[in-house]
Amino acid sequence: MTTVAAYAAPAPKAPLERTTIERRPVGDHDVLIDIKFTGICHSDIHQAQDGWYPGIFPMVPGHEIAGVVTEVGPEVTKFAVGDRVGVGCMVESCGTCDNCEAGLEQYCTGGGPVLTYNAVGKDGQPTYGGYSENIVVNEDFVVRIPEGLSLDVAAPLLCAGITTYSPLKHWNAGPGKKVAVVGLGGLGHVGVKIAHALGAEVTVLSQSLRKKDDGFRLGADHYYATSDPKTFEELAGTFDLILNTVSAPLDFNAYLSLLRTDGTMVNVGLPEEPVQIPLMSVFGHRRSLSSSGIGGIQETQEMLDFCAEHGLGAEIELINADQINEAYDRVTASDVRYRFVIDTSTI
Ligand code: NAP
Ligand code: ZN
Repeated sequence: MTTVAAYAAPAPKAPLERTTIERRPVGDHDVLIDIKFTGICHSDIHQAQDGWYPGIFPMVPGHEIAGVVTEVGPEVTKFAVGDRVGVGCMVESCGTCDNCEAGLEQYCTGGGPVLTYNAVGKDGQPTYGGYSENIVVNEDFVVRIPEGLSLDVAAPLLCAGITTYSPLKHWNAGPGKKVAVVGLGGLGHVGVKIAHALGAEVTVLSQSLRKKDDGFRLGADHYYATSDPKTFEELAGTFDLILNTVSAPLDFNAYLSLLRTDGTMVNVGLPEEPVQIPLMSVFGHRRSLSSSGIGGIQETQEMLDFCAEHGLGAEIELINADQINEAYDRVTASDVRYRFVIDTSTI
């Protein structure tokens, strides 16, 4: 075991503080990664505040990890010391169920994937995330960060990137398709960039027009404020696909009315409270309401390669570790442009 410095929430809703954790020795199929940057995802906040379900504390959040390999186990074949790599939301899965075999490890039915933090690994030990100096991960859950993507702007792609790329691809966002992205935060801003790079006509639906200039710069073709009721009149029946990234419950009736016949609203935002879905607003135009969780490992690599090819990274505000609690407050207040990333050398 190695003792490693980290930032942890000692208890639900408690401020994060510097501490130490133990990392397992590097196993046959493991790589040791010197973490350089870790993004702050709103999921970190939901979990550190016990918003979804009772968590495992102390909790070291962080599933947008970018770093460099410093050691490899004897059986490792995919990575070598010095490689630039990333780790996202999962670190293990059964590897043998139909979903794992199909590259959908995030939907593993053999006990579910082991999350990067707030979970218990196959060794019976709690997993600890990327708000730390290093991490030991099985090579099958490590991806390569292509040259041309710097590690700081690549880190958020490990969750925000794949969580938006996967549904945009699955529901065929591309030329001729009208795609709305609801919420211009961490996920939303990457979603706009990716949807634009895929060739779709992209509309941002944000609470206000405050970030309109940014939205156009990120690749949006249209930008509307959802606080203005006229938005919902003007855009009724417009979209093939709505990607909802909002972390709070929405008025689903209003948003579903923006879909055209056979359109789909995909919810990647995961509010802590249950939401009400009036089925009348789905039934009317054979609309679909769906959801999507991150993406598989192979698809995560595909996403990183796509982003590198399109020169596409996250827009980040780099912070020191002692600013994590302040960053949590700002994300909660929708005051983020557009992802806080921790310089882990400051831990
Ligand atoms: P974020 O950076 O906080 O962005 C969320 C955005 O939603 C905000 O910037 C804001 O955008 C909008 N918003 C916030 N509160 C709102 C409200 N009350 N009403 C309307 N709009 C509101 O969060 P994130 O990191 O992108 O994560 C978003 C959600 O996705 C979280 O629930 C997170 O847990 C979830 N998530 C899911 C997956 C998955 O696999 N499905 C993966 C990662 C994250 P505007 O200011 O533009 O309105
Ligand atoms: Zn996340």
